Amino acid sequence: MSTAPVAAVYNRRLQLTAVTDRRYRSGPLVVRALLPFLALLTACTAPAQTPPTPAPVAAPARAEPVRAAPLPGDRPGQTPAGQQAGTVPRPAQLWPVTRIHGLDRVGARDIAKRYGLKTTWTKAGAVMALSDAQGVRFTFERDERDFRLDGARVFLGEPAVLNGDDLWLTKVDVIKTVAPLFAPSDHAAFLPAAPRVIVLDPGHGGTDPGKQNLRLKLDEKDMTLDVSLRLKKLLELRGYRVVMTRTTDTRFSNSPNVDLPLRADVANKAAADLFLSIHFNAVDRDPQRVSGVETYVLAPQGQASTQPEQDRSMIATHYPGNRQDTANALLGYTLHRQLVTGLKSSDRGYKRYRLAVLRTLNCPGALVECAYLSNDAEAKRVATPEFRQQIAEALAEGISNYSATLAALRSTPSPEPTMTR
Ligand SMILES: [Zn+2]
Repeated sequence: MSTAPVAAVYNRRLQLTAVTDRRYRSGPLVVRALLPFLALLTACTAPAQTPPTPAPVAAPARAEPVRAAPLPGDRPGQTPAGQQAGTVPRPAQLWPVTRIHGLDRVGARDIAKRYGLKTTWTKAGAVMALSDAQGVRFTFERDERDFRLDGARVFLGEPAVLNGDDLWLTKVDVIKTVAPLFAPSDHAAFLPAAPRVIVLDPGHGGTDPGKQNLRLKLDEKDMTLDVSLRLKKLLELRGYRVVMTRTTDTRFSNSPNVDLPLRADVANKAAADLFLSIHFNAVDRDPQRVSGVETYVLAPQGQASTQPEQDRSMIATHYPGNRQDTANALLGYTLHRQLVTGLKSSDRGYKRYRLAVLRTLNCPGALVECAYLSNDAEAKRVATPEFRQQIAEALAEGISNYSATLAALRSTPSPEPTMTR
């Protein structure tokens, strides 16, 4: 591997960090000073088939547009004309907006045009597919709040509406969900470096069993702890430092209003780079018909949650966790996609909600509902250590993919190159 990129990579890192969220700018000086050498070291020592991490881009010494990340759906060359590395992109100004039914909206045809995709009505006036040489990338459906991106189901705040010969999404949905997932490189200035410290939060505990399957005698709190401990091991093998919100059958407080923010505090006090809360789900109605995976991130300010909020004023609130909206979007999608494909579970959707455990985070965070305990067939799978290990492996893989995306965007070495095989 050539050593030429190293200095350029370091220069680009400085240019990028200069415009990024202050929290991610700092970091031990010694680590920053060592970065060029770390990059060189990993370039020289990484075994041929080890890293899922893409190699740093051989950048010229001069600033160049930020390269695309390896997230599904993203390819190089999508940086808008005129945008240079080192300038903060203004995504809101890059989309032509039309007011329809009282909301600022962007047409699916403009999304297609921007990303060089072809539009086709697969069902006239109802279902529109946006595709390229790789196949169908997006599917939008009239009056539906969810769309598909590379096969994964993603929820918007508001349904797509038909107007003229186009489907229209709200501006906030395009800026906060559609665009960062399809072209994270356009949003690189809002993204942190690859994570190193990860906080895992096994949901519930102590007096709160969480969801239950009484027939199989399964408590959510035991399953979340087991999966979290398995995931901790896998992440440590990949070079991450892992902090747990609990390692035994306990909780911080019997009041959820106190308990949940205290879990986020663990991440804030550890100066974590990523927070993941692990849960299992249940429904009362038709429990044997409902199964699969759901992933949640904090809803951005102004975007409706997937479930109605208890208090509508929450929609207008900017929470500390909203400082990481772009990273949250990327993290949630990457984890969700990996869970659905890794577990071969049904896709209940990647969703948004103003969850108390995510609201006060200083780092990107997500909450995963790995399976339905109320579904007997799925609960029987959860009851086996093999399936819980599969869940942990899918989550570890999702975190690695998220890391690799950030590392490629920021051209910093991710922890993966030193991982054991
Ligand atoms: Zn739960």
